[in-house]
Amino acid sequence: MIEVIRDVGDASRRMAEFRLTGLTIGLVPTMGALHDGHVSLIERARAENDRVVVSIFVNPTQYDDPEDLERYPRTLVADVDKSESAGADLVINPTSEDIYHDNYRFRVAESELSRELEGAQREGHFDGVLTVVLKLLNIVRADRAYFGEKDWQQLLLVRDMAAAFFIGTEIVACPIIREADGLAMSSRNVYLTPEERALAPEFHRVLSCGGSTEEMIAQLETAGFRIDYVERRDGRVLGGVRLGKLRLIDNVGA
Ligand code: AMP
Repeated sequence: MIEVIRDVGDASRRMAEFRLTGLTIGLVPTMGALHDGHVSLIERARAENDRVVVSIFVNPTQYDDPEDLERYPRTLVADVDKSESAGADLVINPTSEDIYHDNYRFRVAESELSRELEGAQREGHFDGVLTVVLKLLNIVRADRAYFGEKDWQQLLLVRDMAAAFFIGTEIVACPIIREADGLAMSSRNVYLTPEERALAPEFHRVLSCGGSTEEMIAQLETAGFRIDYVERRDGRVLGGVRLGKLRLIDNVGA
C-alpha cells in the first residue's frame, strides 16, 4: 500500500529511515493532476531506485496570477492511485503553511536565465520554482530527482541550482510525453475548448518543421496563436504561446 504523508517533519523522518537502511531514493516533484508525462517520470524513478517518492504540491509562489493558481486542477485521490500504479512507494502532499512557514522570507533568486523566455512573461516564476524545489530536495535528500524536458528552462535552472548549492541529488532529465497528435501532455490541457484542442497540436508541428524562427512565428500567428517567444537555444527550438486563456509551452530538438 502506498503511504501518503502530509507533515514535512514526518516526511523527513521517513526519508532518514530509508537512508539508514541503505535504500536509494528517487524523487518526482509534481503539482498533481497527474497524466502520462508524470507517470513516465515515476516509472523511470522506479527502475533506478529502491524507493520512489512523488511530491504533490501546487506551489503558490510560482504564480503571478492568483486566478491561475485558483483554477489549477486538484485531483489528489486519483493522483495517489496513479502514483501507486506507476510504482511509487510514498506521496508527500505538504501544506503551503508548512512549506512556507517562513512566509517566503527566504528564496532562491537566479539572475540570468530565469529572467528570459518564460521568466520574461511570468515575473518571479522561477524564484518560486527554484525555492520550492530546493525545499523539496532538502526534505527528501533523494539520490535522484526526475524532471521533464517539457519544462526545458526549468530543467536547466534546477540542474544549475543543484550544482551551485552542492546539492547531492542527481537531476535526471526525462523526454516529453505527447498525445497521439503531438500535443505535449500538460495538466492544463483539460481547459482547452474543443476548438482550441483541435488547433493545439499545430504548435508542436510548426516548432518541428525546421524553418527559421521568424517563419515559425508567422505560421503560428496565422493559425491563431499569440506568440510570447519562439527561440533557438542549446540546439533546441523553445516556444511559449497563448491560445485563448491558456499558455502552452513546448520545445523540440532542432
Ligand atoms: P508539473 O506537475 O506540471 O509541475 O510537472 C511535474 C514534472 O513533470 C515536471 O518535471 C515536468 O517537466 C514534468 N512533465 C510535465 N508534463 C510532461 C510531459 N508531457 N512529458 C514529460 N514530463 C512532463
